[in-house]
Amino acid sequence: MNGVSYRPGYISLHRSGELKNRGEALWEKLRECGLCPRECGADRISGELGFCQAGSKLKVASFHAHFGEERSLVGPGGSGTIFLSHCNLGCVFCQNWDISHQGSGTEVEIADLAGMMLQLQEQGCQNINVVTPTHFAPHVVLALDQAAGQGLRLPLVYNTCGWEQSEILALLEGIVDIYLADFKYMDAGKSALYSSDARSYPEITRSALIEMNRQVGVALPAENGLVYRGLMIRHLVMPGDASGSLEAMQWISGNLPLDTYVNIMIQYRPAYHAYMFPELDRPVSRETYQEVVREARKCGLVNLDVDV
Ligand code: SF4
Repeated sequence: MNGVSYRPGYISLHRSGELKNRGEALWEKLRECGLCPRECGADRISGELGFCQAGSKLKVASFHAHFGEERSLVGPGGSGTIFLSHCNLGCVFCQNWDISHQGSGTEVEIADLAGMMLQLQEQGCQNINVVTPTHFAPHVVLALDQAAGQGLRLPLVYNTCGWEQSEILALLEGIVDIYLADFKYMDAGKSALYSSDARSYPEITRSALIEMNRQVGVALPAENGLVYRGLMIRHLVMPGDASGSLEAMQWISGNLPLDTYVNIMIQYRPAYHAYMFPELDRPVSRETYQEVVREARKCGLVNLDVDV
């Protein structure tokens, strides 16, 4: 693997049978779904759809080697990205609204997802990067178990909005190598307003980030520049201070190691229903962005990915 020997944790869990047990435990959650903090209780096994519009059947929008992710995840072969359809958070400014809100994609079997993972490995990808996996966590783990039995050896990147239940994270311990987690809001009023009444986002996500860091630690690159394990935080700076960016940097520095990886992102563009909120209907100014970067540095954060 680009000269670095790394053994993902899920391999030994697969061999002991624990990976399958975890996948089945997650699957049981579909009966009265509480996979995400909405806890909407849909009986997805019996065909009900939850808030996220996901049922029991897995849906995948696309899968391919992706070269636009963070440099430390890409490498020469790209990040093996699998975009899962639907989303439990439901942001008004979603960039992937056709996949997340409208659920575009194709229903596939768990074995098909395992096949995609193996195909991405065959193509030379650096990792398996499941995008928006929360509502399909059981399917991802069961597919990983099948793929591990057929030779999958790539690190698993859990590319999440960050709003994760602690009991679900407990079931993912030792399975996920890299948590690639958004940290979108610091204010419950803002998360409720812009993400479908997700008032608990700041509180739950802060706890989730602490737990993710406990499980996988700081994301530090190996000698080839690539990351194989650790917590990687994405913070999108938003207009109108929707993201509470200065406070977010202060919270990270006060609650996580100072070398926690933080990608401070400037690429916000109004999309989907952002036009309905005048404060979101514009890009972020460079001055605002630079102020956030300055604050992160002032707070002592040293593992920053910034656009300056
Ligand atoms: S994952 Fe979907 S169905 Fe399950 S609790 Fe969340 S929104 Fe509801």
